[in-house]
Amino acid sequence: MSYQSDDLQRLGIGMTSQRTRERLIQRLRDEGIGNEQVLEVMCSTPRHLFVDEALAHRAYEDTALPIGSNQTISQPYIVGRMTELLLADGPLDKVLEIGTGCGYQTAVLAQLVERVFSVERIQGLQERAKERLAELGIRNVLYRWSDGWEGWKTLAPYDGIIVTAAAKEIPQALLEQLAVGGRLVIPVGEDDEQKLLLIIREKNGFVHQVLNDVRFVPLLAGTLA
Ligand code: SAH
Repeated sequence: MSYQSDDLQRLGIGMTSQRTRERLIQRLRDEGIGNEQVLEVMCSTPRHLFVDEALAHRAYEDTALPIGSNQTISQPYIVGRMTELLLADGPLDKVLEIGTGCGYQTAVLAQLVERVFSVERIQGLQERAKERLAELGIRNVLYRWSDGWEGWKTLAPYDGIIVTAAAKEIPQALLEQLAVGGRLVIPVGEDDEQKLLLIIREKNGFVHQVLNDVRFVPLLAGTLA
């Protein structure tokens, strides 16, 4: 059977094309994401492989999408914003990520820093993320199935920590596991009252900056098989 190109458009084929991806990247640039290295990595990372096939045609819209287990893949603008905030002071060696989810943010980060340590409380989600990243040839990530409220103490300190679920308050363990000079990017607050915070550890304490209004799923306690 052969299709005309407008048939293919109607079937949704082409919705994951390079042109579609570039349109998204231009939109992120227009909305203020200024780190071209971050944008380049996002342009070449196939977001459609991180969502269910039935949603693949929406993968290059600037929107969060469901990934199962009541969780979502973060909106591309937020992924870009959080990543550029983390990298704003120069290249990073060790980065701790809380909330592997489908692994999209993990994949973007892994291409921009030396090593990523990714913690997720839902085992099934993390297993699938691990497989996807292996298929994409991304090997500088270590995974741990555990409660991110505790961080990942044995491998601390970290030059950067990124949390992709909203915490009611800043987890003390994460502050303790941040290196001096390190940067923590975290959404804090409840339901529709969340702010993105950037916290920098200095020699004598922590400096906070309040940034975007955001909407994330909650950072929950405990683990789930
Ligand atoms: N960056 C992910 C975002 C997933 S949504 C992506 O783009 O796919 C947030 C994720 O945080 C969910 O997978 C959720 O299970 C996880 N999460 C929530 N509370 C957690 C906790 N205490 N420890 C680790 N992961 C947690």
